[in-house]
Amino acid sequence: MPTTRDYYEILGVERTADADEIKRAYRRLAMKHHPDRNPGDAEAEVKFKEAAEAYEILSDDAKRKVYDQFGHEGLRRGGGPATHDFSRMDVSDIFSMFEDIFGGGGGFGRSASGRRVARGYDLETEVTLTLDDVLHGCEREVEFTRLDVCDACTGTGAKPGTTPESCPTCGGQGKVQQTGLGGMFRMVTACPTCRGRGTVIREQCDACRGRGRVSRKRRINVKIPAGVSEGQAVRVQGEGEPPPPEASPAGTGVRGDLHVVIRVRKHPRFVRDGDHLLMEQPISFTQAALGAELAVETLDGEATLRVPPGTQHGSVFRLEGEGLPNLRTGRRGDLRVGVRVEIPKRVSAKQEALLREYAETEGASVLADSPSVLRKVKDFFGGSSSGRDANREP
Ligand SMILES: [Zn+2]
Ligand SMILES: [Zn+2]
Repeated sequence: MPTTRDYYEILGVERTADADEIKRAYRRLAMKHHPDRNPGDAEAEVKFKEAAEAYEILSDDAKRKVYDQFGHEGLRRGGGPATHDFSRMDVSDIFSMFEDIFGGGGGFGRSASGRRVARGYDLETEVTLTLDDVLHGCEREVEFTRLDVCDACTGTGAKPGTTPESCPTCGGQGKVQQTGLGGMFRMVTACPTCRGRGTVIREQCDACRGRGRVSRKRRINVKIPAGVSEGQAVRVQGEGEPPPPEASPAGTGVRGDLHVVIRVRKHPRFVRDGDHLLMEQPISFTQAALGAELAVETLDGEATLRVPPGTQHGSVFRLEGEGLPNLRTGRRGDLRVGVRVEIPKRVSAKQEALLREYAETEGASVLADSPSVLRKVKDFFGGSSSGRDANREP
C-alpha cells in the first residue's frame, strides 16, 4: 500500500523546497534507511520505500502539482499521473530506478582509461561549522557507516573454503524473461532466485550472513576550505562504498565518493549574506545627530566605524574586507553594519531640562509634564491602578 503520510514531512523539507533540496533530502534518507545498512530492520525498509515514493512525486513537477492541490487522493484517482507502489517493489529495483541520484549508481562507472568498471554508491554525511570555521577553513573528523567487502569471504558471501555456484534458475545470467499483461509483453527482470547475481550460495559465510558486505563505522579527517556555504558538499573521492555484490561479486571496481554536506551554525551577532556579514549596531540619538567613532566587534577582531553627523535610523555602513572569504577567490566580503538609533526610555532631571531647552529651539510642541511626574501625582491621590493614562508604561 502506498503511504498516507505527507510527502514533504517524509523527506523533511519545506513545501517550498526546490529540486536540489528534495534530491538531497531523498539521497540522505535512502542512504540512512537502506536495508543493506540496516539488516533485519523492517522499519528501515518501510522508511526507505516511503522516501522513494515521496521522491517520485516531489521530483516530478506535474505529479508534485497534483499532490500539492489534491493530496494523496489526487494521485490515486483515475486519470491522475502514473505512480509506483514502492511498498511492493524490490529494494534493488528502487535503487536502480533513481540511479543518477546515488552518483554513479552502484552499477557502472568509468575508470580513468574510459573502461567500464563497477562503481560503488556514494555516501553522504554532515558537519556543522561555525562562522569562524568558515572564515579560516578547518579540518574535521567525520564518522560514518559504510558497507565494506567482507574479509572472511572476500565478498562472495560463501563460507570460506566453498565457492558460490551458478544459479539454476537463470543459468548464471542473473536475468530472467517474464511475460506481463496476459502474455502481451515480454520483460527481462532480475532473477528472483539469485537477485541478479547469477550465483547462489549453498553455505553462507558466517561473518556477513551471505551478503558479501559488512557494515562498518569509519572515521576520517576531512579538510574543509574557507568560504563554504550551508548546503554545499565537500567530496572525498573513494570513501564511499564498494560496488554492490550484483555488480561486482569479487569486490573489485572502484568505491563511490563521500559527500560531506556543510551546515553552518547560526551566529548570535552576524547574519551571513553570501560573502558578506550583516550586523546591527545600537547607537544613541546624540551619536546619530552629532556623529561618532565607534569600536565595532568584527568576526575576527575590532574595527572603527565612523558614523557621520545626521545619521538616520536604519542607515547601513560598509566595513570593507571584514566579511567572509570567497570560496574561489579567497577575497573577503564586507561587514555591513545597520545602525539602530536608540531613544532613551528614562532621562535624568538634567537631561530632561536640556531636552526641553532643545525642543524649544525646534519650536516643536512636547508634553508639558514627564510621565514620571504624572505618576507621582496619581499615586498621591490613590489612582495608581486606574490605567486610564495610555502613555503610561506598564
Ligand atoms: Zn562474508
Ligand atoms: Zn539466478
